Amino acid sequence: MVIVLYLIERRRVSIYNSKDKEFRKENEKVTGFVSEIVRGLRDIKMLHSEDSFSSELHSQVEELNQSRYLMMRVNNRYNCLHFCLQDVFDLGLIFLLVYLIMTGNLAVANGLVIHNYQGRVTSIIDILGILLQSIKDFNLSCSRVFAIMYSDQFSKEKFGSRHLDKVNGDFCFSHVNFHYDCNDKKVLNDLSFEVHANETVAFVGKSGAGKSTIFNLLCKMYDVDSGSITIDGVDISLLDRESIRGNITIISQSPYIFHLSIRDNLRLVQPDMTEEEMIDACKLACIHEFIMSLPEGYDTVIGEGGVNLSGGQRQRLAIARAFLQKTEIILFDEATSALDNETQREIQKAISNLKKDYTILIIAHRLSTIINSDRILFIEGGKIVGEGGHKELLKKCLGYRELYEAELKNSE
Ligand code: ADP
Repeated sequence: MVIVLYLIERRRVSIYNSKDKEFRKENEKVTGFVSEIVRGLRDIKMLHSEDSFSSELHSQVEELNQSRYLMMRVNNRYNCLHFCLQDVFDLGLIFLLVYLIMTGNLAVANGLVIHNYQGRVTSIIDILGILLQSIKDFNLSCSRVFAIMYSDQFSKEKFGSRHLDKVNGDFCFSHVNFHYDCNDKKVLNDLSFEVHANETVAFVGKSGAGKSTIFNLLCKMYDVDSGSITIDGVDISLLDRESIRGNITIISQSPYIFHLSIRDNLRLVQPDMTEEEMIDACKLACIHEFIMSLPEGYDTVIGEGGVNLSGGQRQRLAIARAFLQKTEIILFDEATSALDNETQREIQKAISNLKKDYTILIIAHRLSTIINSDRILFIEGGKIVGEGGHKELLKKCLGYRELYEAELKNSE
């Protein structure tokens, strides 16, 4: 009886697990789709495509329910068989015991003990089944985690072992060539330039010219095909993660501000900051007055149920974070969306407060904001085709002049 029930339990667990594997895949698909809907909610509304997303979600949830149903059906069928057989065996045992007692081969007391003890044996089988199920679940979860960890699809980040305690902020791209894995097209083409510590340099060029790629390579999100990138004269392929990422802050177009109070958002980058340091950073980032105008000041919670920040306010808060982080190199990806003049001025003021103490690289989407940079590099097709100050470039770089004139026309 033990053997038969054990074999049934083993079969149940094995079929259940294969169904569970499919269910988890479906579940992952639906979770991914829901999170995409949440992130793209605004665009879905703007595109007026709620109905198509809703019907797609509906069909995905139906598929998920179907696979959950198949999984549960296996359990129910095998459990039914298990319990029926158990009862049949139980009945058979009772008949056997009665027969043995009646033929004088077994004392009544012994028969009762055997019957009571049989219950314990079957509960051991139940426990074995649960244990088997847990082990298979554990194996399935591990195999899914390891499949991601060791997948060739996601290349591993490789860092060197050299550590720089203090970075000055000088860096240099030397004959860098680069293409993304999914596309053979060269994005950077024998690109060379140098940036000195505490310099403010702006990158200008049409969309797709390769400006963000320069930032990605500097943070070692990707490795160059050929050429080299150095920070303070050391090739970044030799540097450890901390020396690269710990010394660079990126202020993206729409920085992520966590659903926490403003104070806690700032504390994330500098847990030991004092009240004074926090206020100084926000003053330099030109966001202090705005924060003070909020009902709970620095304790105001950002996001759902709290205050929503505009793109310009997010960037200024991110600049305050950069002040607190005190990294030497700051990469600033200017917001593409049109900011009002006042916000633009405030951001420019915040950046100029950073100048001289930090090495700042700016991806400029509006030339008016970077006219005061120490140097402007005009990028076209992954190459620098013009370099100099604003007035100099207007004279000598046709692409820059065209971009500037187009911007003037748009602002009229
Ligand atoms: P810019 O910042 O000047 O607009 P990018 O550096 O973002 O330009 O892009 C340069 C080129 O690289 C574009 O043709 C773009 O399509 C491509 N590209 C950018 N990021 C990726 C990526 N993660 N994978 C593949 N191609 C990319």
